Amino acid sequence: MKTVTVLGATGSIGDSTLAVIARHPERYRVFALTANRGTEKLFELVQRFAPRYAVLRDEAAAEQLHTRLRECGSATEVLTGIDGLLTVAAHPEVDCVVAAIVGAAGLAPTMAAVEAGKQVLLVNKEALVCAGHLFMDAVAASGAVLLPVDSEHNAIFQCLPCNFREGLTQVGVRRILLTGSGGPFRDTPLAALEKVTPAEACAHPNWSMGPKISVDSATMMNKGLEFIEACWLFDARPEQVQIVVHPQSVIHSMVEYIDGSVLAQLGNPDMRTPIAHALAWPERIESGVSSLDLIATARLDFQAPDYQRFPCLGLAGQALRRGGTAPAILNAANEEAVASFLDNRIRFTDIPIVIEQVLARASIVEPRSLVDVQLADTAARQVAAAVIADTGCR
Ligand code: NAD
Ligand code: MG
Repeated sequence: MKTVTVLGATGSIGDSTLAVIARHPERYRVFALTANRGTEKLFELVQRFAPRYAVLRDEAAAEQLHTRLRECGSATEVLTGIDGLLTVAAHPEVDCVVAAIVGAAGLAPTMAAVEAGKQVLLVNKEALVCAGHLFMDAVAASGAVLLPVDSEHNAIFQCLPCNFREGLTQVGVRRILLTGSGGPFRDTPLAALEKVTPAEACAHPNWSMGPKISVDSATMMNKGLEFIEACWLFDARPEQVQIVVHPQSVIHSMVEYIDGSVLAQLGNPDMRTPIAHALAWPERIESGVSSLDLIATARLDFQAPDYQRFPCLGLAGQALRRGGTAPAILNAANEEAVASFLDNRIRFTDIPIVIEQVLARASIVEPRSLVDVQLADTAARQVAAAVIADTGCR
């Protein structure tokens, strides 16, 4: 029986994770479920999964949940704040932590799980983007087992040999082919992009996801973040990772070897597949995902990424090459810009402009600890707020 903490249990990935766990009650026990502030959904999940702990980041919401749970006789203990998240991420009784908080807010709890040597199912790509070096060093030092759940990285992990940590070149890998659908605006006339609405940006053609990653997919910042994520996870140089636009999202990524072989992982676009793979690894379990119907799919298309249409892709590549706190600054600026776009305060096309200006104004240092990363994150958000205020007034 594996004991599992789900960080970000009320989100889209939380839903998919708990759907897989619910199919295998003999294999997994939910130890803790966490969320940001809404009590209703967490209340329902606690009743369903009866975890030992429920954590709400927001104190008032935690108080409310505590009262409701006592009223219905639940034995689940309610914790709150960052301390509550850190406790359930690193608790000695936990075997496996699903890191599915959205954004840099997930960094500290994910690191706590890594430092405690847990099996960490990484979905929160922003954590790795912000603190790549520190994160991978902590994995090596603690012996944590890091399993990528982001569908592309899970696909790459499945296509790599198990000794890939000896080095990609040493194990005969020529390059990683990171696929991305191109999002809802792949073919939208460029002139129409500045008028697109948050609802249009969130309507992804193939995947159903939370609002932030949906907008990231529409700007292709998601692929930019995943490019950085791939370099850290697989110790790849940027030139060893090639982004390929693949509109159908059936191939989730590929690995090319020096003999010319290209291995791909295919499947329906449903996060329950990579989640089930990582939960059961190295075994396999049923996920509830239907069989891939290749005959109905009929064709698989591939295109080069369009850096003019998607400037966020270029910005992410620059931040990775710049190194230090640049990716954390890129991420913070993006989070602020996306939140402002979702709030109708800036246009879709302002998102890369805001990020570029924040990167240009920020001072980039080599972070020596998470505190340095968090300082860079806070400073970047302050600069972003000023840039957004200017941009929104135009
Ligand atoms: P979501 O918005 O649906 O859910 C986010 C979860 O994080 C919620 O439970 C929310 O309560 C919690 N949360 C938000 N802010 C928080 C804070 N400040 N402190 C503590 N908890 C907080 O997001 P999602 O789509 O499930 O994505 C989660 C993560 O997984 C993201 O990093 C995303 O990039 C990654 N991811 C998602 C998908 C997908 O299909 N949804 C695919 C690949 C990767
Ligand atoms: Mg992905």
